[in-house]
Amino acid sequence: MDDCIFCKIAAGQIPSTVVYQDEDVFAFRDLNPQAPEHILFIPRRHLASMAELTPADGPLLASIFTAAKNVAHQLGLEQGYRFVTNVGPHAGQSVFHLHFHLLGGRDMTWPPG
Ligand code: 5GP
Ligand code: ZN
Repeated sequence: MDDCIFCKIAAGQIPSTVVYQDEDVFAFRDLNPQAPEHILFIPRRHLASMAELTPADGPLLASIFTAAKNVAHQLGLEQGYRFVTNVGPHAGQSVFHLHFHLLGGRDMTWPPG
C-alpha cells in the first residue's frame, strides 16, 4: 500500500525505534506510548485489520504472538502485559494496517475504556 504509514515504517522509509524484525513481522515503539513499554507488532504484508485475516494467516499470527511474548520476556514484563488489536471505529482504530499493541510496565484496568 503506497500511502500506508505502517508499510513505510516496515520498509524503513519512515524511521522508527525497531524492537524486533524478521521476514514476516516488524515491531517498533509506539510514537505516543500509553504505558512505560508500548510496542506495536505488525505483519510486513498489508492487511487493514484482523477483519481481513483468513485461516492461511495462522502461521503469521503464530509468528507475531511468539515475537511478542519473547519481547515481553526481554523487557522483563514478568508482572504481566496486555496484547491487543483495535478493529474499526468503535475500537478507536486509527491506522488501517493490522497492528497489535504490547503494553506493559504498569497496572492495567479491565475492562478497558
Ligand atoms: P490504533 O489506534 O490504530 O490501534 O493505534 C495506532 C497507534 O499507532 C497509536 O498508538 C499511535 O500512537 C501509533 N502511531 C501512529 N503513527 C505512528 C508513527 O508514525 N510512528 C509510530 N512509532 N507510531 C505511530
Ligand atoms: Zn500497510
